[in-house]
Amino acid sequence: MVQPKPGTVWFVGAGPGDPDLITVKGRGLIERAGAILFAGSLVSEAATRWAPADCVIVDSKDMTLEDMSAWLITQAARCETVVRLQTGDPGLYGALIELVQPLDAAGVPVQVVPGVSSAMASAAAAVESLTLPEVTQTVILTRMEGRTPMPDGESLQELAAHHSTLCIFLSITLMGQVTAALRAAGWSPDAPVVVVHKASWPGEEKIVRGTVATIQALCREAKLVSQSMIIASPTLGARHWTTLAKSKLYDASFTHRFRQASVPASQLTLDTP
Ligand code: SAH
Repeated sequence: MVQPKPGTVWFVGAGPGDPDLITVKGRGLIERAGAILFAGSLVSEAATRWAPADCVIVDSKDMTLEDMSAWLITQAARCETVVRLQTGDPGLYGALIELVQPLDAAGVPVQVVPGVSSAMASAAAAVESLTLPEVTQTVILTRMEGRTPMPDGESLQELAAHHSTLCIFLSITLMGQVTAALRAAGWSPDAPVVVVHKASWPGEEKIVRGTVATIQALCREAKLVSQSMIIASPTLGARHWTTLAKSKLYDASFTHRFRQASVPASQLTLDTP
């Protein structure tokens, strides 16, 4: 007997919380999914809002990785489009590879659709840029050590020594250790830190601004214990700076592929912070 061709399992980034922040491609897959396995309350809304009436929709919160891969393999034998819906982007702290390996072993085709990470949504909520010319051009996405140990060279203190932007996931309950690591890496007690809770969630988003010295107490006062992004960056608050180095891309003296320079560089003065 000829085996039917298995369906594809699509790992879809649901975005940070606002159902409108899923990609058009992700939404299209939900609209034609025969089965959806979603991760937690955060993404249930997107799943249930756009899935067809006869779609099998299951929350993975009580499942082990083995349960999940077995479920995805079973559903792929039954329907053409199976969706694993995850918060933010599937490639960040999402157990993507642990789930892909058993599907590969079972011969089930896999595809990944990226999503808006909570790091980006948190910066957007706070109207912050994670990079600024001549301030920092580097963003580090990381976390404090929890049950998952940090590999050598990746302690927060070591990463913070770069003085670039840090987006710290999964660490709101370890705020004391976060600020201690920043201090140990030479960050000033006055250096700004912003914490965004439930970025993009309609009606639930909270933004707490403070400094390395004050942010722990402020987060405790605001009772933030989960779903929060910690951003420490020399770029924070730049919206209110009076002097700013301008991006070369939009500089009138800068010629690039799509535009000829209109002003010779020698006639320009650049503000520097
Ligand atoms: N793949 C996800 C991250 C999952 S790990 C992504 O790309 O965003 C879970 C952590 O992400 C949480 O502990 C928190 O630090 C962060 N997070 C997820 N959603 C968030 C949101 N809406 N606002 C702020 N932080 C969020």
